[in-house]
Amino acid sequence: MFVSQEYKEVWILKIYADNAATTAMSKTAVEAMMPYINDCYYNPSSLYSCGQAARDAIEAARETIARCIGASEREIVFTSGGSEADNQAIISAANIGKKNGKMHIISDNIEHHAVLHTLKKLEKEGFAVTYIPVKENGIISTNDIENAFRSDTCLVTVMYANNEIGTLQPIKEIGDICKRHGVIFHTDAVQAVGRMPIDVKAQNINMLSASAHKFHGPKGVGFLYAQKGIKLSSIIEGGAQERGFRAGTENVAGIVSMAAALEEEISLMDTNAKKLIKLRDRLIAGLSEIPHCALNGDKQNRLPSNVNFCFEGIEGESLLLLLDDKGIMASSGSACTSGSLDPSHVLLAIGRPHDVAHGSLRLSIGEDTTEEQVDYIIKSVKETVEHLRRFSPVWRDLSAGKAEFIL
Ligand SMILES: *Cc1c(COP(=O)(O)O)cnc(C)c1O
Repeated sequence: MFVSQEYKEVWILKIYADNAATTAMSKTAVEAMMPYINDCYYNPSSLYSCGQAARDAIEAARETIARCIGASEREIVFTSGGSEADNQAIISAANIGKKNGKMHIISDNIEHHAVLHTLKKLEKEGFAVTYIPVKENGIISTNDIENAFRSDTCLVTVMYANNEIGTLQPIKEIGDICKRHGVIFHTDAVQAVGRMPIDVKAQNINMLSASAHKFHGPKGVGFLYAQKGIKLSSIIEGGAQERGFRAGTENVAGIVSMAAALEEEISLMDTNAKKLIKLRDRLIAGLSEIPHCALNGDKQNRLPSNVNFCFEGIEGESLLLLLDDKGIMASSGSACTSGSLDPSHVLLAIGRPHDVAHGSLRLSIGEDTTEEQVDYIIKSVKETVEHLRRFSPVWRDLSAGKAEFIL
């Protein structure tokens, strides 16, 4: 736990409830990277034995990561993170499709911007994209996917777990459908890797994106799994690293650390999930007592770490700033949309009107979160929402009956 400088006199402890934005590096991940920063700093492409030691470390990390998701080593390409992996996966599948005269892609309307913006770019290049609307609980209907297939569909890309509302998609079912249609299935699994069990073969996943900093590894490193036989397009040109699929000197320390972090997270997954689900549901129950609020996303079918609420009559940004004063770090949407005035596309997609979507709060807890912290968060959010509503003209109109409550 981090003690804020300004509050040192009063010793206010900071509570981190923004694990969907990034996670603290585990001790294991930090220790794993140190030798490759300090002693073994060599370029893995160098032919002398010390360079080869760095190469060996990368290959051992590749083997570990492949094992963690049920893939083989040759199916793993290291990237600079989740965004790059998403870009490369989608562009590769699009290039394969184009070659075969297939230029239709199926996705949905709650994807991360790394996926949505790549799809927008492809639309400008002549691809057609069907964005399947999710249901009110944030989950996609597999029937809708089935019905969206065309003879020229070349890719289905649906995220494993949503970064804002935590909903889990029926990945295996989607994988099965895609297999039947002979179409590549990519999943942005950045929020799921290390938190949910993944077996790419059993779930019929052909491509998968992951990012180390979302599972207690370092920032700026991730990986793309691409099933054997899928020809990747290189989106960074240069040397022949990563078998020509991703140029640039490898982030050796980051890659080694990512593998260590993932291996540990997977060994702790069941224990962590049990603990987190209990805390999550305590948080949901506590916050549900606030009048005129709603939980966003499905109550059960969501990440063990994710809680997301809308509170009517307030602004999410004001809530965040006041919670920060109380030592609580949270988020109103995804980091990529904070700072912009548009409400979250995910909340709009599950049917929240603009006004309501503006009053959102995402709390993403972690393994270090305690019951006391959860209770402190509940108390603080209750007080702060009440406080903000006292000064809200929107709330005044709602309470006076001049406007109708939605929630
Ligand atoms: C964080 C995140 C990304 C982006 O990963 P980076 O490593 O930060 O580029 C992509 N998709 C989802 C669902 C995410 O949560």
